[in-house]
Order: sequence, then C-alpha cells, then structure tokens
Amino acid sequence: MPPTIVEIVKKGLCLGCGMCELACPHGAISMTYDNIRGIHQPVISSEKCTNCNLCQEVCFAVHCRIWLNKGIDTWAAVLGKCVSCYTGFATDHDLRFKAASGGIVTALLIFLLEEGYVDGAIVTRIEPKGEPGPPIAKAFIAKSKDELISATGSKYCPVILTDAFKALERGKHYVFVGLPCQIYAAKKLAEINKRFKNCIKLYIGLFCGGTFSYNAIEYLLRKYGLEARTVTRLEYRGGGWPGRMFIQTDSSSIVIPFPEYWPLLSPWFYLNTCMTCIEGFNPQADISCGDAWIPAIMSKDKVGTSIVVSRTKIGDELIKKAEMRRYIVLQKVDVKTILNAQKSMLTFKHLRINERLHILSTLHKEYIGGGVKFMRMKARTRIYLGELSILLGRFLASREKLWPIFDLYRILLKSFLTFLMQLKALKANVTRRLKHPLQLS
Ligand SMILES: Cc1cc2nc3c(=O)[nH]c(=O)nc-3n(C[C@H](O)[C@H](O)[C@H](O)COP(=O)(O)OP(=O)(O)OC[C@H]3O[C@@H](n4cnc5c(N)ncnc54)[C@H](O)[C@@H]3O)c2cc1C
Repeated sequence: MPPTIVEIVKKGLCLGCGMCELACPHGAISMTYDNIRGIHQPVISSEKCTNCNLCQEVCFAVHCRIWLNKGIDTWAAVLGKCVSCYTGFATDHDLRFKAASGGIVTALLIFLLEEGYVDGAIVTRIEPKGEPGPPIAKAFIAKSKDELISATGSKYCPVILTDAFKALERGKHYVFVGLPCQIYAAKKLAEINKRFKNCIKLYIGLFCGGTFSYNAIEYLLRKYGLEARTVTRLEYRGGGWPGRMFIQTDSSSIVIPFPEYWPLLSPWFYLNTCMTCIEGFNPQADISCGDAWIPAIMSKDKVGTSIVVSRTKIGDELIKKAEMRRYIVLQKVDVKTILNAQKSMLTFKHLRINERLHILSTLHKEYIGGGVKFMRMKARTRIYLGELSILLGRFLASREKLWPIFDLYRILLKSFLTFLMQLKALKANVTRRLKHPLQLS
C-alpha cells in the first residue's frame, strides 16, 4: 500500500510544493510552514477529508517510492527518452550572465511568449522577507519578457506552486518550468482535475541533484552573521558561471561563490525524498536542461553554458525554431558527453543508491518496501561507510542546536578524506616506482 499524505508528512518526506492542496476537491488541505523541518507542509482537516486519496495521486514522494521499487537497469533508462542532446546558451549576453548556466531556459521562454506559442510561463521567484522564516520561493505566471528575466536563476529551495496554478486561466496556454518532482505533480494534476487539463502545453524540466530545505539558507545566513528577516534580495546562482549566491539585507550585501557555499549545504540539507529520488535528468519533460559541467567548456567559459535534452518531437522542433530565430545557440553532443558531464549527480543518485537504501531500510524498517533493481547490486564497504558519514552529517544539520558540532564534523571529515586521498596517491607512486625502479622522477 502506498503511504498516505499524512504518513508522508509524518516521515518527513514532503517536498513542500502544495500540489496536494490543489488536488483536494474538498478544500481539506492547507500548507503551513514547519520551522523545525524548514519547509511548508500540508495540514489535513479530518472533518473535510473523505479519503478520496487524490492528494496521494499527485504526490511525487509517494510516486518516488513506487518507482524506486521497480528500478532501472541501463544508463539509457537513467537519462530517459531523448530525441537530441545539445550544449548551448542564450544569444543575449546579459541574460546568459544573469542566468543559472547558459540562460537557455529563459531564452526559450522569451521565444515561446514573443512568438505567440504560449500566453504565459509558470516560473519561480524568491519573495524576500518570508514570514516568519527566510525568503520563500513561489511560482508565478510570467506574461512579459521582463517578468521572465526577473525569474532567471536556480532556486535551491522548496517552491510553493499553488498560487500560480490557481491563477491559470481556462482556454489559455502555458509552459511550465519545473524540477522532476514538480513536473510529475503538474502532469498528474492535469490528469485528475478537468480545470487543469490541456492548460500546460509544454514542460521544460531542470536537471536536479536535490533541493535543500529552508534550514540550509538559515544556516548559511547565520554563518555569515546575517538575520533571515532582514534579507531583501536573495539569488542562489547568476553573475557568470559557475556563479555565486548574492544576499542583500537592509544594511549590507554579500557574495558567496557557488563552489564555496555548495559543499556547506550538499547533501547535508537535501530534503529526505531527494536522497532516494532517481529522476535527476527530469525524464518527463519535453525539454530538460542542466549545467554543462564539461571540462573543455568549463576551462574557457566564464559566462555560462547549459545542457539541453529534447525528449519529444514538439520539444525538439521548438528548440530548433528558437535557434533559427537566434534566441539561442546550440551544438549537438552525444549521450555519453551528457552522462560524463553529470558524473557527480550520477554517482550520488545512482551508483550509491543501493547502499543508501539498504541503510535507510535497516534504520527505518518501513522506509522502502521490496527490493531495488539496479545495474550494480554488489555493495562496497567504502560506499557504506561514506553513506553512514552522510547520514550522521544530515542528522547534525537537521538540528539547529547541533550546528556548531556539524561545522566541526564537516571539517574533520574533509581533513580525513584529504588524508585518505594523499595516502592513495602515495601508494600509487610507490607501486609505480617499484614497477619501474630506474625511472628518475
Ligand atoms: C534544485 C535544483 C537542483 C539542480 N540540480 C542540478 C544538477 O544536479 N545538475 C545540473 O546540471 N543542473 C541542476 N540544476 C539545473 C541548473 O541549476 C539550471 O537551472 C539549468 O542548468 C538551467 O539553467 P539556465 O541558465 O538555462 O536557466 P535560467 O535561464 O536561469 O532559468 C531557470 C528557470 O528555472 C526556474 N527555476 C529556478 N529554480 C526553480 C525551482 N527550484 N523550481 C522550479 N523552477 C525553478 C526559474 O524560474 C527560471 O525560469 C538544478 C536546479 C535546481 C533548481
């Protein structure tokens, strides 16, 4: 039996999107902010609830567990169906600089709006001074180029989708930009509720390694001596590539480079469901986009390049038209290049998943029912130890009072891993010298 929404919330698996509220035909669900977990979660009125379970249907956390049990068994299945793969960027240099990677997503949206393919785009922006916690990300319907540009950049936090979906107008056409979990929920909602049927004509998906709870930004703000309630502007990415976080408060502003803040948060503050989600490439979208972590590009490009995977005929046609109309520049690449560019996501989401699931299902007996079929079933002790150290770090990160210990733990872990790597390099050097004793260097 799949878990109910109440069970999903109880087990801390909610992703905070609010789609269950929209799915409920009886208005029995409302979202409230949980200060401890750092996320909005559904509260269900037992008087109004009729146990119709439509909320369960749209919930990605429920789907994720069912899907995981089916398993996937090839690299092609990991990437999902694909018409063509490209790297590319927006031709508008300012947009490309402001965007998360190459500005492809925003450039495509501008093309779709200006050329009359859609009436609006469901995108996401940060609303400063969240009450009572940190600034909150909310989806809204952008109907102009300026509004689209105001929504550029990745928001590595849960996003409330409800207001944007409530504002969709019958007979109008929209494009939706979302993470794998959000696209799953939006498609399911369109299936079960007539009001949302045929509204969304195109789904543009972002690759996703995982999303942080709002505790991540609270932690970071505290680390830099800032108070959440004073934040007036927050950008997680942008300002070139790989980009930086920009925080403005009532009295000051700071910039934290992406490579500096990322290891402080990932995977420590990932939502629990992200730890067991294997849909990082956003397989259900028409077009999926990610960062082009390709060494040959990264060594030269300081502005930004995206990976683009077209998955449907319509998706591929629109990309090509946008290129023809000079909104974007594209270069074809092969599947292997895409998979290589996403090595760290693949390692985290796929190559270590069996060990992670084994540990989680041992600790929480009910966590995952059944087995997991994946391409590599042989467990490795090194991965088990790594996963246990992640679990301990996540425990420390999940409790505000333990953040000083979490800081110390991360430093010790990093020193230990550096020591292990040096030891490995030394061992390799000695082995090489023993094999070739006459070699001078
Ligand atoms: C939580 C998260 C995790 C990610 N993980 C990876 C990863 O592991 N590997 C990788 O290659 N890429 C990842 N990405 C995608 C990457 O950060 C870029 O979004 C992608 O490369 C597109 O860049 P762009 O410059 O074309 O997009 P832009 O032109 O900057 O446009 C981004 C669009 O996405 C929308 N958006 C931003 N954040 C969210 C959100 N949380 N939910 C819904 N819509 C949003 C914005 O409103 C905007 O319309 C992740 C993105 C997010 C939000």
